[in-house]
Amino acid sequence: MKQGIHPEYKKVTVTCTTCGATFETGSVLDEIRVDSCSNCHPFYTGKQAFVQNDGRVEKFNKRYNLKK
Ligand SMILES: [Zn+2]
Repeated sequence: MKQGIHPEYKKVTVTCTTCGATFETGSVLDEIRVDSCSNCHPFYTGKQAFVQNDGRVEKFNKRYNLKK
């Protein structure tokens, strides 16, 4: 490798902003923040943990107070 033209590759701590998990990886950045990690992402946990979207029917019922 040519000297002086490559950013320094070092160990950084990745912080997950959703579950607070941290793990180390290599990067040229000082710090990495992610929204979702293998600890809390629904794909890995097997359950839908956040962003529970209301369906169209629920929204309609809520708007017109049809169902409690
Ligand atoms: Zn996470």
